[in-house]
This record gives sequence, structure tokens and C-alpha cells, in this order.
Amino acid sequence: MVETAESESRKLLGRLRDAMAREAAGQERLDHITQLIAESMRTEVCSIYLFRDEETLELCATEGLNPDAVHQTRMKLGEGLVGRVGKSGRIVNTADAPSERGFRYMPETGEEIFSSFCGIPIQRLGEALGVLVVQSKQAREFSADEVYALEVVAMVLAEMTELGAFTGEGAALKARHTQPFLIRGVTAQEGAAEGHVWLHEPRVVVTNVVADDPAREVERLEEAVDQLRVSVDQMLAGARDSEQIQVLEAYRMFANSKGWMRRMQEDIGAGLSAEAAVEKEQSIARTRMAQASDSYLRERLSDLDDLSNRLLRILTGQGAQTGADMPDNPILIARNIGPAELLDYGRSLKGIVLEEGSVGSHAAIVARALAIPLVIRAGRVATEALNGDHIMVDGDQGIVHLRPDDTVVSAFRDKMAMQAKAQERYTSLIDKPALTPCGKTIGLHMNAGLMADLPSLQSSGAEGVGLFRTELQFLVRNQMPQRTELAALYKRVIDAAQGKRVVFRTLDIGSDKVLPYMKPQDEPNPALGWRAIRVGLDKPGVMRMQLQALIRAADGRPLTVMFPFVAQYEEFRSARAEVDKALAREKKLGHVLPERLCVGAMLETPSLAFAPEKFFQDVEFLSIGGNDLKQFFFAADRENERVRRRYDTLNVSFLSFIEQIVERCVRTETPLSFCGEDAGRPIEAACFAAIGLRTLSMRPASIGPVKSLLRRTNLDDLRQVIHAARHRGEQSVRPSVMEFFRNQPNGV
Ligand code: PEP
Ligand code: MG
Repeated sequence: MVETAESESRKLLGRLRDAMAREAAGQERLDHITQLIAESMRTEVCSIYLFRDEETLELCATEGLNPDAVHQTRMKLGEGLVGRVGKSGRIVNTADAPSERGFRYMPETGEEIFSSFCGIPIQRLGEALGVLVVQSKQAREFSADEVYALEVVAMVLAEMTELGAFTGEGAALKARHTQPFLIRGVTAQEGAAEGHVWLHEPRVVVTNVVADDPAREVERLEEAVDQLRVSVDQMLAGARDSEQIQVLEAYRMFANSKGWMRRMQEDIGAGLSAEAAVEKEQSIARTRMAQASDSYLRERLSDLDDLSNRLLRILTGQGAQTGADMPDNPILIARNIGPAELLDYGRSLKGIVLEEGSVGSHAAIVARALAIPLVIRAGRVATEALNGDHIMVDGDQGIVHLRPDDTVVSAFRDKMAMQAKAQERYTSLIDKPALTPCGKTIGLHMNAGLMADLPSLQSSGAEGVGLFRTELQFLVRNQMPQRTELAALYKRVIDAAQGKRVVFRTLDIGSDKVLPYMKPQDEPNPALGWRAIRVGLDKPGVMRMQLQALIRAADGRPLTVMFPFVAQYEEFRSARAEVDKALAREKKLGHVLPERLCVGAMLETPSLAFAPEKFFQDVEFLSIGGNDLKQFFFAADRENERVRRRYDTLNVSFLSFIEQIVERCVRTETPLSFCGEDAGRPIEAACFAAIGLRTLSMRPASIGPVKSLLRRTNLDDLRQVIHAARHRGEQSVRPSVMEFFRNQPNGV
């Protein structure tokens, strides 16, 4: 930027700051600011549009357009040129606005006489707040210097908006972070929680946006960047695994990037403080990140985002620890979080809300293990929420109420009270069996994967652990665990079970479960790829190590092992042979062998249901992994939100398939259980029991509700209902089953 343009811009920012320092109402400030900008930019018009809701921009102040249009002229996102800037987050700069694509004439503003138009998004850290517009009669495009100066001004306006400088009457001038905000996300762990926001990464607050002494600001920036470089180098020196090194290398590249530094220096030259300059570049990177379709570019931009946060913390002295105390009943808010970090918080959290994440993510698995309500894909929550805000999380519906109003609070509390009452009822059933009125007893076991799960074995009344997902211990670490470490851990699990059976499933990795320290496989269809037992048999080292650790952990006690994702008999036979080899090896080494060893398989691929009879005689038990079995049966990815719920578990085809598996197992006297998520849903569980399943394994929190329903359900009657619906040609038996339960004396 040329010297004169730079000093012009600095002058304007100085005047804006003075305008801010003066005592005035929000509207008055906005009016004054539009005047200052129009004057400084020598344009006839300067207008500021702010969002009144997520979809609508409102003209909030203008110099040059009809003043009566203020707070009257509104446009939807994408509508007209202003709406286009608001939607795309991109600048529109044109000499001939009326002939521009999407131009919309607003007669009430009197803008028809202005030919040129330049619209700049007002955004803070990628969040759209409004649009700044200058217009003039003369048909000319605004120069690069002018556009740049306007960008800097827009940045200052964004900071002022964030700091509440423009609050006043009406929706568009409402104070930020004070209004109730409803977010619809996706359920990842059920349950309701009320508490206060605890931000995983508290936002850095920049109060000094404009600075007078550019030389001093550049010096501050350089000092901070030097400090940043040193800290990145230190992290690199301490890093061991290759992924982490790769990320840190990218950090170092950015920290030494001349382009990044130059842009920030230019921003300072234009009148911004060092921290505002960092934020301006961060904001641009965030917008690009949201628009980038290339995942590599998105990741690099996300590295830059993280690095900018570190730099801001150095400049402002605001550490990740802001000194704030964790509030009572903390509800964690984050864009995303890793499983190890979540485990560090442990059970202190009442709820978790993430902007990103997926149902099968490791964080979701940990949240489930800790039984903490979790909502994922809660858009904008991390930008909207402030530490300490009142928040209610409805994990059942995937809804988050931030700063809820009184009606929402009372309705939500009613719901929580009802749940607490139901919980009391379930607690009273802990020592009772799941005995149905028709005299059948269903074995209810729990799914687990972390030490943190095990106390639930007593508190839920589970008969044992029907599925212990051993991969979780591998997923939450940064490096492959050692055999002795694993043996000690499995021993603690068996000890904690106090004689109850624990079914250890061998490592089930691949597909959605990628170990941070294993080279990712570039596979077109990971769910159908190299995973679980396929990895175990091709690279038997880890499987052998795990089997040895299990045998040592049992230390003479009974041991149950289950292989995941077996698709054909041969795979089971080979895996079983590994067990025999491990036994022989351990015996030779002088270790005590398990008193009894039971080896089973998961039925997760349709093919296994049709395996030779000999397989059913060989395998000591089978457990249906309904999550995977259902995705392969319907060819619908369990991780894909678009298709995940498309096919009902109570679909006649799927239920008939399960029934065939049950019949085959009865015939071959193969013990059978069901351990997918559906086993924990009371209606589904009752239907499984009605078609002959006698053992179900589920999350501990589901045992109470499932038991409660089973104890009230005549399975013979329910089976009749299912068969009748199938006979009538219904696609899903659910409507008939729901009708059946509604007509029961105690309802569902
Ligand atoms: C399943 O597939 O149903 C199952 C229990 O295993 P996971 O969810 O761990 O794949
Ligand atoms: Mg599975």
C-alpha cells in the first residue's frame, strides 16, 4: 500500500476509535461512523448492514441513501448485491451495479442514481456479522488500495460489533451473546443436562483494535512471532510420532512464512494493532477454510488457525487458562476435541456440545463410556457461547438451548424431572432379572471399552460385559501400548468384574477407527476395507501380543475372547489357531493358562449367517454386531448422516434375517447375543427378544429402560404382532409394534 493511502487509512481508523471512545448510543455511533467513512473514502454513500437473524440483513445506518430506509430495508441472504456479499463472504466491487448479476433495486433507498458499488463482508473469525457498502455516482471500480482500506475498516467494525459498541433498539442491534440461541445438532449420546458453558478453548478478546504507533506494533508482532517460533521448535524437539511431527512442520512453515508476516505488517501499517492484524488474517483464513473443498488445504488452513490463536495468546497475555474457575455443572463447548483430552475432563462434565465430530468419533465413544450427554454438529456453538452462559443440552433430540428463556427452562426442567423419576424406577430394578410375564428371562449385559466404564457393572445391574471394545485403549494413546501395559489393564478389568463374564473383543481398527500412530490406508471404501480381523490376520504381531496379554491378565481365571468382523469360516479358523499358538507359547514361558477359554465371533457381515454348519459347531458363541450388520444389509453407511436413519431396524427384511440367524443358532446350539446399539433401545430390544434372542448387550444406561419394558412385555403376544405385520406385507413392523405397546396397561 502506498504511503499516502496508508496514512489516510490510519487517520480514518484513528477517527473511528475516537468515535468509539465517545459516550453515545449504538445507533448514534453507527450514523457517525458511516459519515466518517463516506467522507474519508470520498464516496457519496456509505451504509452498514447487520444481520437481524441468520437469514436477513438489515440496513442499520447510512450516509447518502434515504435515511427513512434505515431499519426498513432488509434483504435475505443471497438476495441483491448486499445479500450476495453476506452469503459468500466475498467482496463485490463493480463500476456498474445495475448490470451486475443479482442486482436488486430497492426503491425506498433512492440508490438508483449510484452506479459504482463496493460491498465488503463484516466478519469476525469467519462468522458473518454484516456488510459494509460504499457507493458513488461516478462509474468506477474502487482501487485495490481503497478496497484494502475498507477491509481494514470492516475488521474494526467487526471487533466493535463483538464488543457491543452498536447495541441499541431492534433485532439487528441486539447485544451479542445475550439472546437465547437454539442450535439443532445431532445426537451422539442421549441424556439431558443443564449447566454453564465451559469453553475448551476460550476466545481471545481483543480490546485494542486500532493503534497509533505502527513501528511499536510491528515490533510487538515480531517479538511475539519470535516467541511463537521458539515454542514450535520446542514442541518439534519433543515430538515423537510422525503425524505430530508433520503437523508441527506445517506450523513451523507458517511461523516462518514471509507472506503471512508481510500481510500482518501491512495491516498494522493501515492502522490496526498487532493483535487485530493477526485476527484479520485469521478471519480471512477461516472463511477460506469453510469454502475449501480440498481436504489438504482445509487442514493447512486449520493449522494456520491454531497458530494464529497461539500468537494471539502471546500478544494479549491471555493463556488457554484464562484464570476463570470452572463453573458448577460445566457443559463443555468446543469445535472438536480428542478422546484423550476428553478423558482428562472425565466425569466432571455434565454435557458436551461440539461444532464438528461424528457419531463414531473417538470423542463420542468416550462421551458414551462416561455417559455424558453429547450433541455434535452444533453449528456456531463455539462462537455464540461465552464462558459461564446458562445452557441446556437435550442429548435425546440433539438440541442445545443456549441462554434459554424462562419457558424453555421450565419445560426442560420438567423433562429432566421425568427422566429422574424413570431413573429411580430403573434403580429399583437393579437386582431383579429381566423376566417377562410369559416366563422368559433375557440376559442383559453391558458394552464397555474403558476402565471408566467398569463401575457401571455394579450400578447398572448388568450380568457381565457382553462386549469389551479393546481398541479404545489403542485409540486414546499416542503410541502402540506395550504388552505388559495391556496385560495390567485387562487384569484390572477382570478384577473389577468380580467373577462376572467379560467378552474381550480383539482389536477392531480400520474404517472409522484409525489409530493415530498407524499409517492411514488410502482406501476408497474403508468400511469395506482392511479392518478388524483382516488386519489381525495379515499382520498378526499385534493380535498375538493382545492374546498373550489377555492370557496373562486372566492368570488362571476363565477367559472369553471374540473376533470382530469375521466374514467367512476360514478367518475364524485362522484366528482360533492364533489363540492355540498363544496358549502354547504362554505355557512354554511358564504362565498359568486360563481355567476355561471360550472363543467366539461377531456376526457383522451377512455372509457369516450362511457359513457352513461346521462353523456354527466350531464357534463357541456368536454375537450380532448390529451396527455393522445393518449397514451391510441395507448397504447404508452407518457414519453417513444422510442414509444412516433411512432403513428401520424393525424393517421386516432385517428382522426376518435376524430371526433366521436365531433359528440357525438354536438348531446348532450356538449361544447367541446381540451387541449393537439397537439392543439398548427398548422397543427394538423387546422385538429381538420376541423373535428369540435371549442375550443382549448394550450401554449401561440402557439396561434400566430395556429391563423395565421387558418385565412388562408378553413376548408371545409381541411375536404374534410381528408375524401378523409381516404377513400383511408391511415394510416395517414398527407401527404395529408401537400400537401394541400403546394398548398395554402401562403403555410404553
Ligand atoms: C457393531 O458393529 O454392532 C458393534 C458392536 O461393533 P462396533 O460398533 O464397535 O463396530
Ligand atoms: Mg462392528
